[in-house]
Amino acid sequence: MANEVCFQHIHLENAWTLKVYESTGGYSVWRKILEEKTPPAEIIEQIKASGLRGRGGAGFPTGVKWGFMLNAPSELQKYIVCNSDEGEPGTFKDRDILRYNPHAVVEGMAIGAYAIGATAGYNYIRGEFWEPIQRFEEAIREAYDADLLGKNILGTGVNFDLYTHYGAGAYICGEESALLESIEGKKGQPRFKPPFPAQVGLYGKPTIINNTETLASIPTILSKGADWFVNLGVPNSGGAKLFSVSGHINKPGNYEIPMGTSFKELLEIAGGIREGHQLKAVIPGGSSTPVLKGDTMMEINMDYDSIAKAGSMLGAGSVIVMDDSTCMVKALARISHFYFEESCGQCTPCREGTGWLARILHRIFHGQGRKDDLDLLENVANGIMGQTICALGDAAAMPVLSFIKEFRDEFEYFIEHGKSKVTGEAAL
Ligand code: SF4
Repeated sequence: MANEVCFQHIHLENAWTLKVYESTGGYSVWRKILEEKTPPAEIIEQIKASGLRGRGGAGFPTGVKWGFMLNAPSELQKYIVCNSDEGEPGTFKDRDILRYNPHAVVEGMAIGAYAIGATAGYNYIRGEFWEPIQRFEEAIREAYDADLLGKNILGTGVNFDLYTHYGAGAYICGEESALLESIEGKKGQPRFKPPFPAQVGLYGKPTIINNTETLASIPTILSKGADWFVNLGVPNSGGAKLFSVSGHINKPGNYEIPMGTSFKELLEIAGGIREGHQLKAVIPGGSSTPVLKGDTMMEINMDYDSIAKAGSMLGAGSVIVMDDSTCMVKALARISHFYFEESCGQCTPCREGTGWLARILHRIFHGQGRKDDLDLLENVANGIMGQTICALGDAAAMPVLSFIKEFRDEFEYFIEHGKSKVTGEAAL
């Protein structure tokens, strides 16, 4: 489809091979850059002009991030790292990019490395992504064989070596500084910032970390032009984006649509709500982002500003749809247990607070809630917000605050009656 960026050509047979990728124009941007010795600053300017924002959740402008490296001392080793750890509940797009379009990531990383002056890169891939890992490693092998990676690429004097690193399944290793610790062979725990990775990153050297979708978008942006990309979207949200849509819908899956498309349209593309049910709630950006009521979602568009204005976040574009059969107490108890399990334990508000949140919700869900539990939940969540080393603390607190705000009556009913207002049951 004309608007697709990362999923272009994936419907072709053996789309993940070098042969098919090159037959559709793949590596032509990388070859042109090498041939013409395009100045790195020029590439960074184009990425800035495209409006591309990090697709991993934070939404930081990619060109600005790359621009930080222009000031790094030229004699220092620099690295580019791709974050394919993808562990946020509701997110499942990056594994499909690696599975069906791995060469776009390889080419995007090579171009990014050239732009920031890095000669080595790592793709940190969640270890259980067996097929995506195999496809990506095969793509690296093919690119080396075609002299598109390695030393003195195509005789131009440019060097770029690319490696994969397998994660072991810890959610926190998707946090960029914990990911760097993990590559270095240490326990995956976030670092204090500043200094930021662009100053002190992998092995203490300047490093840029980008999400898989971000890097896979680079070749198409440079091939079709910054204007083409920025005009696909809406102001402040350039381009098209992959949305992982899951939950109570008829056709769950990954959909690449222009930023600013209405949620209503996305819901239709994903087959609509299950027959006989009504839309109740949506988590628009992955389990860490605030839940919104279904009615609110039906009025807004899928871009950074629209979702922020409604009180949530676009995040990684992981849309979890819930119909009227959903018990919100159960849903939140599940989410809170996840963040409790995944806290690295390094800072007190997160280590202790996530445990408190999970335990209070566990007792409510087991029919043993107390009258002041909702106040206590809010108190604990507010005590975590903004008080921790990394964003996991906020990620644990925001769902609690938003679920209670939007669906307070369900929580009050569960505490008063010892059972769900929706299903009439309590956990054993
Ligand atoms: Fe670890 Fe949580 Fe602190 Fe992040 S916020 S560093 S996960 S304890």
